[in-house]
Amino acid sequence: MSAGARRGTARVAAAVAMAAAMCATVHQRLDAGTIQAAAMAPAGSAAVGPAGSAAVGPAGSAAVSPAGSAGPSPALGTTPSATPRPTQHPTQHPTQHPAPSPTASSGAGAAVAAEGTRRSVDCRQVKCVALTFDDGPGPYTDTLLRHLAAHQAHATFFVVGQNVAAYPSVLRRAATAGHEIGSHTWSHQDLTKLSAAGVRSELARADEAIKAAAGFVPALVRPPYGAFDDAVRVRIKRPLVLWSVDTLDWLHRDSARVARVAIRSARPGSVILFHDIHRTTVRAIPRVLKALSRKGYTFVTVSQLFDGRPPRLVYEGDAPHRN
Ligand SMILES: [Zn+2]
Repeated sequence: MSAGARRGTARVAAAVAMAAAMCATVHQRLDAGTIQAAAMAPAGSAAVGPAGSAAVGPAGSAAVSPAGSAGPSPALGTTPSATPRPTQHPTQHPTQHPAPSPTASSGAGAAVAAEGTRRSVDCRQVKCVALTFDDGPGPYTDTLLRHLAAHQAHATFFVVGQNVAAYPSVLRRAATAGHEIGSHTWSHQDLTKLSAAGVRSELARADEAIKAAAGFVPALVRPPYGAFDDAVRVRIKRPLVLWSVDTLDWLHRDSARVARVAIRSARPGSVILFHDIHRTTVRAIPRVLKALSRKGYTFVTVSQLFDGRPPRLVYEGDAPHRN
């Protein structure tokens, strides 16, 4: 990982509107064996950054409805009440580990189709960038999917379980189109503030919702607000995916600005953070795709960025680029 990857980034706390549909879908209990998490060594505490514990404020969680809230509250894209907080990054290189499959076996057609539509990309040979979209799916996600398809671009969606339950078909379309789906937990709570059981529940419920909608359990996790600590890492036995470019799109609802930041900041291997629950963000994406395409970038999923073997902690791709 390059030094640039370790610089502090502003922490994003997007508002997560809580979808009502908890009761709408009866999920099967997951067999733990279906989760194709990477075999991970015990959390090397030395390698763990203080990102979560040091920088986490209460602002984020205040914006989040309790997981169990039943009433309809479909206000996706509402104003986040959280403020950006600096994230400190670890100074040690994360350990590489065997590749998790981006799609756990479930027999679902979506997962199979997704595999089939993704091209093989060698990010050591070509300029790759990973666009990532958090907090959806939402009302603008289908439009985003059309923009991505128009540029043959693949992206990674870190989805909130409650929103998956509200927009299951949108998630299915994203997976079928070849985009990578990662977990952003069930209700977007700060995991460093939860008990072990709470963390497990946030992950398990999101897994269930994603499996019910798309047919697989995601191999990647992005912790809400980028907040994690040693305990969270131990409990989430999957790669944690952060980012190296923060567009602050939730704060600046300005498509031109969002596009400008993404275009100017992108480097080979960048993992760029967006939120597809904002209309302004989705409107910025055609410009981003056009400009970065012109600069020679290929748009890949996070797993593609690492040739299917993402490390335990991801800020950006670390493959040396030959051009
Ligand atoms: Zn989020």
